[in-house]
Amino acid sequence: MQSLWSATATPAFTLPELRGSARAAVVIIGGGYTGISAALHLCESGVDVVVLEAAELGEGGSGLNGGQVIAGVKHDPDTLEQMFGAGLGAQLVETVGSGPDLVFGLIQKYQIDCDATRSGWIQPATSESALLPLRARVEQWRRRGAPVELLDRRQVGRLIGSDRYCGGWLDRRGGTLQPRSYLFGLARAVERLGGRIFTRSEAVRLERAGGQWRVQTARGQVTAPVGVLATNAYTGALMDALRRSVVAVPSFQVATEPLPPPLRAAILPQRQAASDTWPLLRYFRLSADGRLGMGSRGFFGNTPVAIAARHHYRAVQEIFPQLRGVRYDYHWGGLVAMTSDHLPHLHELAPGLLAGLGYNGRGVAMATVMGRVLARRINGVSHEELGFPVTAVRPIPLHRFSRIGVRLAVEYLQLRAALARAGSRFARPWRDA
Ligand SMILES: Cc1cc2nc3c(=O)[nH]c(=O)nc-3n(C[C@H](O)[C@H](O)[C@H](O)COP(=O)(O)OP(=O)(O)OC[C@H]3O[C@@H](n4cnc5c(N)ncnc54)[C@H](O)[C@@H]3O)c2cc1C
Repeated sequence: MQSLWSATATPAFTLPELRGSARAAVVIIGGGYTGISAALHLCESGVDVVVLEAAELGEGGSGLNGGQVIAGVKHDPDTLEQMFGAGLGAQLVETVGSGPDLVFGLIQKYQIDCDATRSGWIQPATSESALLPLRARVEQWRRRGAPVELLDRRQVGRLIGSDRYCGGWLDRRGGTLQPRSYLFGLARAVERLGGRIFTRSEAVRLERAGGQWRVQTARGQVTAPVGVLATNAYTGALMDALRRSVVAVPSFQVATEPLPPPLRAAILPQRQAASDTWPLLRYFRLSADGRLGMGSRGFFGNTPVAIAARHHYRAVQEIFPQLRGVRYDYHWGGLVAMTSDHLPHLHELAPGLLAGLGYNGRGVAMATVMGRVLARRINGVSHEELGFPVTAVRPIPLHRFSRIGVRLAVEYLQLRAALARAGSRFARPWRDA
């Protein structure tokens, strides 16, 4: 089924398939936010770039996501500083915290038409125990000057339009956008600056020849001294160790019909994005045309779509009982790349070969940031100045069983959720996701 975003995006533009041989200073494999942002930042500094995308633009996570622009990564700022030390840790906090500034700055700079709204991101808590870590999160970001605030039950209820939550926090750095239009806008900017993007041009072989990287597609090849892998959850056999360094977890979404004005005024009246602390995560927002879009994790390719959709309709109704009887016009899904340390990864795989991936469902801002980090590194910025750790690729042990593991974990969490819904005494309080 068509996604809400492909139905409402700014017109796609036709990009060619690679035919014959091309040369560039940098060849980027993958045309999502990571690859296109890297290309854009390289083009801005005058570097000659070729991007190869296997499908059409927007068929990976960057055209399918919830369009929630979120600052930071899963770890709190203090934890990042403990993990990486005061120097790099503080730089990393700054890098990940400023993701929304970069996204909204690029939108403004390149006049990208993508329904961008910067009214904040809310993390509402589904239980008192889930609220505790949120208090610490707010305190840590506030100490660093971020525009964040704790919300009590009444405040969160008013901002979300639901009495389901017992509190939460609001991060005014975040917001929403039309994810596919944002990607198209970035790609148009790359083209305007002279970058070349080829679609339907899957990289099928990558090899080192005469001090250059040679990337082979079905009908052509690109040779460049520097290569970038920006394939995230869609990484395939081209670089198997990289594929095994993340777990590709499906995420599914539904969108309602445009809501009537009274409901639009009551649900997310200030148009924030929200992602709650439910163990399987439920994220929701209104679209520019007033539809409620809601997504969550954990439905696999072999789950009948009707079951996944029904699960989401129930979640919508649980949070917004006023939407009983609403019509659903869209449902769709994509893959999210999860890492075992819950951090995005920047790798230098070989001399002149880099990769950035693993955004754990927070890639709208973070993949855009990663593109800039990759471009800075390619432009000679030292590891010390980069503000992002370069790590070795670590394939996840027993990766081939990860799908089964994730599936079992998802089923366990779904069972617990069902017990909690039924008010069972066996259901323990949720921990924060
Ligand atoms: C349903 C869903 C909801 C999400 N919601 C949010 C959200 O609300 N907020 C948020 O911050 N993040 C969200 N995310 C995560 C976010 O979308 C991703 O982290 C981000 O898009 C990653 O960008 P990327 O460029 O690294 O990868 P992608 O956009 O997936 O791009 C990778 C590209 O590489 C291409 N590729 C793969 N192999 C090859 C090859 N051999 N040759 C050429 N091309 C190749 C693929 O076709 C693909 O287009 C969501 C993800 C999904 C799936």
